[in-house]
Amino acid sequence: MNSYKCVNCGVGASALYKTYGPSVLKLTKCDSCKGVIDKYIEYDPVIVMIDLVLMSKEAQRHIIYNTEFKSYWKLFIILIMLETYGVWRNDSLFNIAINTVCNIKNNSTINSTYITLPINISVPEPWMSDCKGWAYEEKESLDLFIWEKDFYIQFLSIFTGIIVFITIVHLLMKLFKKFCFQNEVSLARVLKSFSLANMSLLFTLPMLVWGNSDTPPGTRLLHYLMVFLYSFIFFYNTFRVLYESPKIVTAIVLTISYCIKYLTTFHMTPFIRKITR
Ligand SMILES: [Zn+2]
Repeated sequence: MNSYKCVNCGVGASALYKTYGPSVLKLTKCDSCKGVIDKYIEYDPVIVMIDLVLMSKEAQRHIIYNTEFKSYWKLFIILIMLETYGVWRNDSLFNIAINTVCNIKNNSTINSTYITLPINISVPEPWMSDCKGWAYEEKESLDLFIWEKDFYIQFLSIFTGIIVFITIVHLLMKLFKKFCFQNEVSLARVLKSFSLANMSLLFTLPMLVWGNSDTPPGTRLLHYLMVFLYSFIFFYNTFRVLYESPKIVTAIVLTISYCIKYLTTFHMTPFIRKITR
């Protein structure tokens, strides 16, 4: 029964510590690397959090394999709501990309950001209608109910994107696993890891809270680009810990999954808006 893992080398372990009497507790050593299997069980949660933010693989292994982390689904939902809030406010990297590529210069909200590109990108013809689905004519004149309804629509759309993202990552990893590495991963563990890595979204909060109509588009773009980069590296590290996959495979799988996720959301929102009209 190797349900735990050594945080240093990732080798399976049957116990994290042994108890000798009511107040004596000894941390187990790893057979493979001779280090302590999980030093974090003695650490303060704040220190574990700091190590997580610094993307330490040891701290990620501790959370994914050696703790219960039962409330991951709450985190999962809260983070989807945060992502939805950004997209609903027209204030995220994804919206900046859509506004720029679809040539939406004024979306009637104070937060819409449009970047002038040095080169011209033309959208494929069948996607033009979806582009129109993202553009709003007069948002101020719409009543509160429509605003609220739009939040649910975006939530559904982003939720679908995330399900697609997780499915694609898992399927591609399973496919690659047949050829080059062996590591069985349960779905609950995938969701735990996703929720953990998705915490990097919290860094969009400063812009969502303090960003206003005076914020230059370049600043907005830079902030969201940096958060995206951090998020990408965080996901990369977490999936390396989870699937024990080679570096290049993880990077490719992650890039493909990200593209499909954003494409899904891009097509999903106009589609749901159309059928719920
Ligand atoms: Zn070890």
